[in-house]
Amino acid sequence: MTRQQIENAIEIEGLRKTYAGSKRTGPKEALKGVDLTIPRGSVFGLLGPNGAGKSTMINIMAGLVVKTTGKVRIWGFDQDENPRQSRAAIGVMPQELNIDPFFTPREALDVQAGLYGVPRAERRTDEILELVGLTDKADAYARTLSGGMRRRLLLGKALVHAPQVLVLDEPTAGVDIGLRQMLWQNVRMLNEQGMTIILTTHYLEEAEQMCDEIAIIDKGSVIVRDTTQALLARMDAKTLLVRPASGAPAFPLPEGVTREDRADGWLAFHYPRSRVSAGAILAALAAAGVEVADLSTAEPDLEDAFLDLTRR
Ligand code: ADP
Ligand code: MG
Repeated sequence: MTRQQIENAIEIEGLRKTYAGSKRTGPKEALKGVDLTIPRGSVFGLLGPNGAGKSTMINIMAGLVVKTTGKVRIWGFDQDENPRQSRAAIGVMPQELNIDPFFTPREALDVQAGLYGVPRAERRTDEILELVGLTDKADAYARTLSGGMRRRLLLGKALVHAPQVLVLDEPTAGVDIGLRQMLWQNVRMLNEQGMTIILTTHYLEEAEQMCDEIAIIDKGSVIVRDTTQALLARMDAKTLLVRPASGAPAFPLPEGVTREDRADGWLAFHYPRSRVSAGAILAALAAAGVEVADLSTAEPDLEDAFLDLTRR
């Protein structure tokens, strides 16, 4: 197979990982037989609660964690048969902020390029520093960088060998809005240039906004994998929150809508968005003469989504 014919950036079959653990904790089965293909050119979301196994999966792809059994192909290269090529095809921005405090960002990128055997003439250190917004800090020691700047550097390090697949492990957990925007801009731009992007998050909304396709992983197994659109359509439960200007008596609601009177004075209307619109609920409120002081809608959170999906 030539590289041009590759359809899937990643192919995972029967992937299992059991961490040995300590005497006290015992072994931990973090991945319980995962099959997953990630199409070339996509922005793919791995979504799941803490402890689901997302980082384990990513770190196995990156060659940072040794799998127990299973097959992993990256850009068509089997990880066991072609370790060097499969590793060269992927760049990972890890969840942990593991940065050598004694290197400057410029040096860190250079060291990383050296590790991947990128010839000096082909290094794009300045370009990458600019891309991640670290030009001003290029020669500052890493220990003087803020948490956000360290994350920028981790992204830069993931890009030095121009990988075909970029993996971001919870890139936006606890980061400020400026960094979040920088990350998403870069992700979109790199994807437009043809890079396949894989990101993990436990924010459904973030996955919705960024990803073409999503796999939901829970307790070491992929429980759902679908296009973002199809997945959202399956997660039907929605809530409209309304704060009436003064109290609201009982009044007729569209079929399928349930009302919950909350202690803080807000009314929550739960409805299936495939059959009922928020507008229909607001119309019912207006018809009953209830004046609305404030309102918002709430998406189902991940937990609800899991319940909803696993119940089917
Ligand atoms: P996620 O990234 O989805 O939060 P992880 O892959 O980090 O999940 O963890 C999956 C499970 O494996 C968790 O129960 C976690 O405690 C366990 N685990 C992760 N790394 C190790 C390790 N090095 N040793 C033992 N258990 C681990
Ligand atoms: Mg993780």
